[in-house]
Amino acid sequence: MTQKLAIVTGAARGIGLATTKLFLDQGWLVAMVDRDAAELELVATDLAGATAFVCDVSIPDQVTATLAAIEAQFGRADALVNNAGVADFGPLEEHDFARWRRVMETNLDGVFLVSQAALALLKKCQGAIVNIASISGLRASTLRLAYGTSKAAVIHMTKQQAAELGEYGIRANCVCPGPVRTKLAMAVHSQEIIDAYHDAIPLNRYGSEQEIGEVICFLCSDKASYVTGQIIAADGGFESTGVGLP
Ligand code: NAD
Repeated sequence: MTQKLAIVTGAARGIGLATTKLFLDQGWLVAMVDRDAAELELVATDLAGATAFVCDVSIPDQVTATLAAIEAQFGRADALVNNAGVADFGPLEEHDFARWRRVMETNLDGVFLVSQAALALLKKCQGAIVNIASISGLRASTLRLAYGTSKAAVIHMTKQQAAELGEYGIRANCVCPGPVRTKLAMAVHSQEIIDAYHDAIPLNRYGSEQEIGEVICFLCSDKASYVTGQIIAADGGFESTGVGLP
């Protein structure tokens, strides 16, 4: 049987790396896409079935070249996980335009660019798209003006993709993780935020990379063949409560 191929962006560490390992465990091949060449090549070397593609998802020429390379090597894409992301927390007064753009370029432009470049390959396989947003895209709180706005846009882009691409048999869903102790989160979560999350989350803890990856892999699998246009919070119940954050 032909092996399925998943394209995972931001695959060098964190949620993207955990998701890559779960796909590999389930017998998929994975095209690992990340802009951090050193970290990506280090981890990909040890993963049978994974191939590293160094690419900044916010740069159109790099995205086009990467998808052309994936097409040449695999000729298919059964799943696309738009996971690459950056976080930058701060109040409106301090968010100069360069900081705002850096967040939007990866979190929003990147999802658009990679989805568009992968479309022909996804059409061939009736593939699945999973976009990674955040609980910060579902609920507003302080400091997340750029980050939360970028993720809210990704949530809406997912619904647009589901509406438009259903006729090709392509499903598009969105996962909104709660807090996970990755490099991205730990750079912006103060002790005050960590404590507040523990209080606000019914399960009273951060999630793990694997717990998020399991939801992503399910949505990419045939088990979710009638699921599209959905926004799924994997957040220990945070979104179901009204408890606030700093
Ligand atoms: P992480 O920092 O551990 O990993 C992110 C990866 O994306 C890194 O390997 C980085 O090099 C890569 N990346 C960043 N910008 C890129 C670009 N322009 N092009 C290519 N690669 C790029 O972070 P993570 O926590 O695993 O985050 C993964 C996703 O999950 C992000 O979209 C993030 O917003 C989302 N998320 C994370 C949390 C959390 O608490 N960790 C919560 C909600 C949502």
